[in-house]
Amino acid sequence: MSEQPSNQTDASSCQSCGACCAYSSNWPRFTIEEDAALDLIPAELVNERLSGMRCENDRCCALDGEIAQAVTCRIYAIRPEVCRTCMPGDAECAMARRKFGLPDLT
Ligand code: SF4
Ligand code: SF4
Repeated sequence: MSEQPSNQTDASSCQSCGACCAYSSNWPRFTIEEDAALDLIPAELVNERLSGMRCENDRCCALDGEIAQAVTCRIYAIRPEVCRTCMPGDAECAMARRKFGLPDLT
């Protein structure tokens, strides 16, 4: 799920989507975060290898709501870097949305 976009249409797109947060358990991994930033994420939401977010099947455990309906990230302000870089309408977004039968954003 992307950075809160300045464009309201894009913000609405993410809030009624959540596909990238449920695309793969390998997706919400930790990359360039500082230890201090990772320490802010509740331990129960971190996977056993401490390498990324805990997932149930492919869905991140920090995601609340219903995919393609209404979703929120429980740790939005402190979410991992990879979650900030997937932007509505980019290639990763399109790949995730297709998994759920959602149309590409333009
Ligand atoms: S797949 Fe795209 S539209 Fe959906 S939450 Fe992720 S960035 Fe937003
Ligand atoms: S941490 Fe938040 S933005 Fe990142 S995958 Fe999980 S629910 Fe989505």
